[in-house]
Amino acid sequence: MKTIIEPFRIKTVEPIRMTTLEERQALLAEVGWNLFGLHSDDVMIDLLTDSGTSAMSAEQWAAVMRGDESYAGSPSFYRFEAAVRKLMPFRHIIPTHQGRAAEAILFSIVGGAGKLIPSNTHFDTTRGNIEATGATAIDLVIAEANDPDNLHPFKGNVDLARLETLLERQGAAVPIVMLTVTNNAGGGQPVSLANIRAVAEIAHRHGKPLVIDACRFAENAYFIKCRERGQGSRSVTDIVRDMFAVADGMTMSAKKDAFANIGGWLATNDDVLAAAARNRLILTEGFPTYGGLAGRDLDAIAVGLGEIVDEQYLRYRLRTNEYIGERLFALGVPIVRPVGGHAVFVDARRFLPHIPPLQYPGQALAIALYEFGGIRSCEIGTVMFGRKPDGTEAEAPMDLVRLAMPRRVYTQSHADYLIEVFEELLVARAALRGLRISWQPERLRHFTARFAPLAQGAPRGQ
Ligand SMILES: *Cc1c(COP(=O)(O)O)cnc(C)c1O
Repeated sequence: MKTIIEPFRIKTVEPIRMTTLEERQALLAEVGWNLFGLHSDDVMIDLLTDSGTSAMSAEQWAAVMRGDESYAGSPSFYRFEAAVRKLMPFRHIIPTHQGRAAEAILFSIVGGAGKLIPSNTHFDTTRGNIEATGATAIDLVIAEANDPDNLHPFKGNVDLARLETLLERQGAAVPIVMLTVTNNAGGGQPVSLANIRAVAEIAHRHGKPLVIDACRFAENAYFIKCRERGQGSRSVTDIVRDMFAVADGMTMSAKKDAFANIGGWLATNDDVLAAAARNRLILTEGFPTYGGLAGRDLDAIAVGLGEIVDEQYLRYRLRTNEYIGERLFALGVPIVRPVGGHAVFVDARRFLPHIPPLQYPGQALAIALYEFGGIRSCEIGTVMFGRKPDGTEAEAPMDLVRLAMPRRVYTQSHADYLIEVFEELLVARAALRGLRISWQPERLRHFTARFAPLAQGAPRGQ
């Protein structure tokens, strides 16, 4: 059969409140044209993030009831630990309340002033936690990753020559090598098994441990199965085990590829690092058998990890975004290709060529998606990255809008509706206007800035 159906039925539903164009226009004015300010029940299709927004299964909810809330030594912890170890056989598995808590603990130990930490592309919380210790985060993704039309099958790969050079010249300053799978900040692009192994070989030859930021490990493994020579007939579980067999540790957000609404962990084979991490954990998260989570959360993660490597699920998951990407591309909507695992990225600068970067074409498109269709997306461009530390403004390398798909939440008709909204926008796009920022905070402005739409034909800049 050509049609790939959602491999689940729906037992519990959440109603979507339908809104009108006029209501949405009034709400946009109220929140200063910043979609983070909306109440989520004023959003019809929420593609702001795939983090923590997954629908849990009946088995996960049943596991929630089995959760044991003992302070120390809860059976929920041992079920969680066994489920992680089945896929990622690390000696020490340390639960945290979410991914960034694992990062904060790791970098409080291995980071510090003068240290250099390379990765393909660091996610923003990873970069933030590295920089908060005074260390420097270095992105070494292959050049193909920066070209939205380059169809390289593994655009998350590390540029091995640059990694080798960094370790040769400045190896003494590098405590660990990191690798993000899939490469979220680079568009959810996968890393090949060959590249993971080569990164590990180079790191180990220089005496450095490899730590994988594994948030979307299952999507990455399924990309390997579909795209990498010799991997097609292997099970996703075996590929996952191979990915982690060459690593010395991992950080994880269970809000992504564990189908949980909260949670994460830090894992390592290093006894000394683990002891330091547990000391830190007790200070900031909790006792090592719960680490900032309830027992019921640990049980939900344990079951979620079994479900996420299901190949019918992964086929449906990757196909969902690929389907949206194919349809948008056929309409002439410029997107980043190939489509990543968890999101479709629209190139707003090319979609709205009449809006210069400093009038925020990504924000203009995100606003229009909400105004026309009640769809919430996320600008990843000059609003997010354009303010320099000295307060000046410069255009970001790209102005993208991310349509991130929550796991098991929306159906194909939601996808078709999204595509229809883009059809309307194609007709209306010449009339879409840029924006100026009317108020902004000093840091991370995209969360709270307020905007004002510009009049037609306004001059460039603010
Ligand atoms: C989400 C994410 C994190 C941080 O995890 P949180 O659970 O949001 O703290 C780290 N790295 C990557 C690649 C992520 O996608």
